[in-house]
Amino acid sequence: MTDRQAVAVLGSTGSIGVSTLDVIKRNQHRYQVSAITANKNVEQIEAQCVEFQPRYAAMADPLAAEALKRRVSARNLNTTVLLGEGSLNQIAEDPEIPIVMAAIVGFAGLDSTLVAARSGKRILLANKESMVVAGHLLNQAAKDGNATIVPVDSEHNAIFQCLPKENQLGATVSEAREIERLVLTASGGPFRQLSADEMQHVTVEQAVNHPNWDMGPKISVDSATMMNKGLEIIEACFLFGVNEQQIEVLVHPQSIVHSMVRYCDGSVLAQMGESDMRTPIANALAWPQRIDAGVSPLDFKLLAGLEFEAPDMLNFPCLDLARQALRVGKGANVVLNAANEIAVERFIDGQVRFVDIAAVNAYTLTHCESSEPHSVADLKALDMAARSYAEEIITNGQLSVGLA
Ligand code: NAD
Ligand code: MG
Repeated sequence: MTDRQAVAVLGSTGSIGVSTLDVIKRNQHRYQVSAITANKNVEQIEAQCVEFQPRYAAMADPLAAEALKRRVSARNLNTTVLLGEGSLNQIAEDPEIPIVMAAIVGFAGLDSTLVAARSGKRILLANKESMVVAGHLLNQAAKDGNATIVPVDSEHNAIFQCLPKENQLGATVSEAREIERLVLTASGGPFRQLSADEMQHVTVEQAVNHPNWDMGPKISVDSATMMNKGLEIIEACFLFGVNEQQIEVLVHPQSIVHSMVRYCDGSVLAQMGESDMRTPIANALAWPQRIDAGVSPLDFKLLAGLEFEAPDMLNFPCLDLARQALRVGKGANVVLNAANEIAVERFIDGQVRFVDIAAVNAYTLTHCESSEPHSVADLKALDMAARSYAEEIITNGQLSVGLA
C-alpha cells in the first residue's frame, strides 16, 4: 500500500469533488486522498475526513475552518485543518502530493491551479474558468514547472482521448496538419426547445435542473444559457492550441458522444459513454492507463437515435460572446467570465431574470474597458473591475431598458 499516489482534491464537497473521491475509493490500491478542501460546508467535509483520513483538510472560509478544527479534534482524527485561502496554495504545492484535482468552481480556483502548475503536478483540470481567464499564464506555468494538465471537462477529455499522443503531450493541434477541426458537443441544456418568449419566464429551479448531467448550480445555469459551451470554446483554444475557427459546436441532446476530432482523411474519432463525470475523472487520474470508474457500460440497444443539430444562436447569444471575446483578445475573456459569474450569482439570488444573464455579459464585454493582462496581478485587477462594472449595470437597472 505504500506506493499509492497521493491526491489532493480541491473542491472536495462539490459535484466533481464527490465523484473524484468515489473513483479514488474504487482504486485504493493505487491512490490515497491526502488533502481535501472546501469553502463552507463543514458537515460534508467532516464526513469526508472521517471516511478518507486525509493528512490535510482546508477551508477557504475562516469560521468554517475553526468549526472543522474543533470537530476533527473532538473525533481524534489524524487530519491537520488548515485555515484560509493561502492553505489551498499550501496544499497545491506540497511536494508529497503529485496529483491535484482542480475542482473549485469559478475564478476562485485560479490561484491554486496556477500554484499546482508551477509545482509540477499532474493537474486534473475541472476548473475550466482558470483556463478561460489565464490560458497563457497557466500553460506557461505548467511548462516552467513541468506539470501535466489533463482535462476533466467531459468534452475536452473526450477530445484529449481522440488526439494523437504527441498532442496529448502538449504539441499544439493547429500545427498538426492531419487534424482539421475539434467538434464540441453540447446537450443544449433544459431550454433547448423553448421559444424566445418562453425563455423570458424560466425560473432558477428549471435552470439548475439539467436534463442529462447532475452538476453544481453555477455550471448548470451556464449550461442553460449555453455560456458553458462558450467557456468551453475558450478552454479548448488554450488547452489544445487552436483558434476559434477550428472549433465547431454541435448540439447533441442525448449527451452520449462527448466530443470529436475531425481528421484530414475524412475520419472522425468520437469518445462515447454514459453522462457520468467519473469516466473523464478516472481517465485523467490514470492516463495513459485505464481504471475502473464505476460507470455502467453503454448499452447501444437501449439508446434512442442519436441526434445532432446546429446550435440556435439567437436564443443562446452567449455562445457567440465567447467567440467575440477570443477575436478581441487582450483581457476580453477575463471580462466575459467575470460578468458571467456576477450575472449567474444574481440570477440564482433572484435579482435578475434568466435572459438578463446574456444581456449583462454582452454589455460588459462590449463596454467595460480592458487591457492585456501580463501578470496574475493584472488579471485580478481586471476581473475586479469587470465584476464592479457588471454589478453596477444590474444595480442601476439598465437591464430593464434592454441592453443588447
Ligand atoms: P460545485 O458548486 O458542486 O462545487 C464547487 C466546489 O468548490 C465545492 O467544494 C466548494 O466548496 C468549492 N468552492 C466554492 N467556492 C469556493 C471558494 N471561494 N474558495 C474555495 N473553494 C470554493 O461545482 P462543480 O459542479 O463540482 O464544478 C466544479 C468545477 O468543475 C467548475 O469549474 C465546473 O465548471 C467544472 N465542471 C463541472 C462539471 C460537473 O459535472 N459538475 C463538469 C465539467 C466541468
Ligand atoms: Mg463540459
